[in-house]
Order: sequence, then C-alpha cells, then structure tokens
Amino acid sequence: MRLALTAGCASLVVLALPVGASAADMARATGPSDTGGPRVYTTTNSPKLFFDSSRKLQFSYRVVHPRPVTAKVSVVKPGSGEVLKRWTETVRNDDVQTVSWNGMVGDKLQAERKYAFRVVARDVNGASTYSASANDTERDSFKLWHQRFPVRGKHQYGDGFGAGRGHQGTDVFANCGNRLEAARGGRVQYAGYHGDAGNYLVIDLKGSRKDFAYMHLLQRPRVQDGDRVRTGQLIGKVGETGNASGCHLHFEIWSRPGWYEGGSATDSEDDLRRWDKYS
Ligand SMILES: [Zn+2]
Repeated sequence: MRLALTAGCASLVVLALPVGASAADMARATGPSDTGGPRVYTTTNSPKLFFDSSRKLQFSYRVVHPRPVTAKVSVVKPGSGEVLKRWTETVRNDDVQTVSWNGMVGDKLQAERKYAFRVVARDVNGASTYSASANDTERDSFKLWHQRFPVRGKHQYGDGFGAGRGHQGTDVFANCGNRLEAARGGRVQYAGYHGDAGNYLVIDLKGSRKDFAYMHLLQRPRVQDGDRVRTGQLIGKVGETGNASGCHLHFEIWSRPGWYEGGSATDSEDDLRRWDKYS
C-alpha cells in the first residue's frame, strides 16, 4: 500500500494494490485483433510453476472496451495450441481478472514442460482480440516442474546410491543450518529420530505414491506426522545428526507404495541434479 500526502491540504490518496497484478504490469496483446476489437492486456506472475507449491501461478488480464465482452482463458501447449484447461468469463471494462492453474487436469498431474496462458476477448458484435499469435511460444509462458531442489544455498554432492555398504540415498553437503525445503508437497508419513538417520522425516508425495526421505536434520523436523506440507515449504535445516560426518542432507526416493510400505529406495542422484538446475 502506498500513501501520498499533499502538503498544505487535507487530501489523502490511498492506492491499494490489487491481489493479482496491477494494470501497470501488463503488456498489450500481440495476437490478431478485429477492427474495433477490445484492447487486451496480460501478465503472468512467474515463469515457473512448482506443483503443489503454496505460491500460486497467476495469469492476470484486463480488457478495455465500451461494449460487454466474453473472455475465454486457456492453458495451452504453446506451438501446438493444444488446450488443457479453459475458463469462460464475462468481464467488465477495465477490471483486472485473475485465474490460476495448479498443473492438474482433472485428477491428473500434467507433464513437465512449457505451457502458456491465452485469452481471447470477444464483444457482443463478435469483434475479437487474441492475447498472442498462434506461433508465439513465449508470451505468458511458464514451465511446470513436479519437484524443487530441497537444499538452499551453496552445496556439493557426496556419496551416491549404493556407495559404501548399501547407501540408499544421495548426500548433498551444505552448511549446517541451511534451509531444507520439501522437494514436493504431500503428507508427513513420519517425523522423528533414529540412531543412524538422526532427525529425519518422510513425506508421502502429493499426486504420487512415492515417498521422499530427508535425514540428518539439525533439529527435530519443523513438521509432525500427518501434517500437510507444500512444495518448497521449510521442513528443517541441514545438520549432521545420527550417523553422519559433515553437514549434509541424506535424501532418499522410495518407489510406490513407499517407505516401509512395500516400496524400495531408488537412485535419487540424477533427479536431484536435474531439480538443482532449474530450481
Ligand atoms: Zn547418506
């Protein structure tokens, strides 16, 4: 919120920022437009969508037009134009409209790749404006990622899967106290202490029957059994509790149906290195 006081008189102007984007953040549509078609402005608040993150990916748009307008908003695969999701809205002149997408279509998490928001605004006479041209792969685009790298700050890789005697995870060394964030949201299956694992927790992944385990945390995990955790949420700090030498995260991926539920630990290093690149 910004305040502007005019000296010498009592006028007070309060500008409340809208929840979505402000009109000033938006760019004019670059797609085809009929003569006399609506003016359309759009913006997307992030180039990345981490599945199940608490931070929403939002597409905002504004239509300026003297006549009533129907807006069709969609999520598409840019290039192919394939539509995954659609919203139809009646919009009022100059209002900022916002929609968000969580990466799901029905109950199915969509593939990791680039997507884009599109809007076409059509007035009562059929005059239309498209936010982007059909071959535009950049405008209002974003990448969907299913996971996010869990260690914040500088880090390096140590022992991988199978190192030593039956090492079941990947070690990522970082300073003790660095933030550990959930690589993917879900529900805490177990949070506690074990002589080898130290402070540790296991999360049942949202939208999958796999589990992720995080070990040697500095302190007791920040979450408890049964807690709902979102992707990127702080779950603890890098430590060296239990059978650990040097501050590091020991990270395990368990195949479905999960940790001590019939699954088995699988090699997590390639995944971690991939998440590390884009996170
Ligand atoms: Zn380890």
